[in-house]
Amino acid sequence: MTNHINSLIRTVFAASMILLFSAGAGAQNKIAITAHRGFWKCEAAGNSENSIASLREAQNAGLWGSEFDAHLTADNKILINHDNTRGGKEIEQTKLRYFKSVQACRLKNGEWPSTLNQYLKQGKANDKTVLVFELKPEKYRSEDLLISKSVRSLKRHGLFDPSKVIFISFSKHMCDVIAQKYPEFTNQYLNGDISPKDLKKDGINGLDYHFNVLKNHPEWVAEAHALGMSVNCWTVNKEEDIKAMIDLGVDCITTNEPLLVRKLLGDRELTL
Ligand code: MG
Repeated sequence: MTNHINSLIRTVFAASMILLFSAGAGAQNKIAITAHRGFWKCEAAGNSENSIASLREAQNAGLWGSEFDAHLTADNKILINHDNTRGGKEIEQTKLRYFKSVQACRLKNGEWPSTLNQYLKQGKANDKTVLVFELKPEKYRSEDLLISKSVRSLKRHGLFDPSKVIFISFSKHMCDVIAQKYPEFTNQYLNGDISPKDLKKDGINGLDYHFNVLKNHPEWVAEAHALGMSVNCWTVNKEEDIKAMIDLGVDCITTNEPLLVRKLLGDRELTL
């Protein structure tokens, strides 16, 4: 399938594609950049992954998207953190106050890890950067509760809007729930083990797979686009891998090196 026909299909089908990757994205073959866990590149400047300062930097840099990770604590609050543990404790089995009072829990830049509400305050402050909201799989808490609390918090901040937020998850169950309840949102599955055709059967309208998965299944990009699905890839940091993903025609690249991706994309970078 030619790029032109691909672009046309991507422009015409699927509300989420139209909203997020927009007519401009399809017609001009543009690619969005998402900062993995915030704006990793700024670590040297004292910012940290999943920190409010990093989100602010990504927003100030005019990046299309900034990704972050949401977990439920033992008292069912939502904590923003990449790993399942912080300060030596399992997040799902520990109450929020531990993460807000024990020094070992602080981020590298001195911030305390934020709650979802604190994080979304910054998200709202400059909503030209899409929040790429990772719903972390839950072992001890309810995944349905993580979704309902997340939706409530997004609504409270005026961010429950498919042009401002997309959902990603390794949990097939959470992707299925989002597909059933909120089909208007871009909803990307992360695990890399299901073909676009089979995701689409369950109403899931996007995928965000490791770049090596897409290298092994290059046909999945065109297959997803033909089904009106969006294609993101994580976490692409080396020049040769970034170029390979650009050549494959993904819609979005999630990276620790947003400035390098920006340089390689030039005027093909999609911004809102
Ligand atoms: Mg993540």
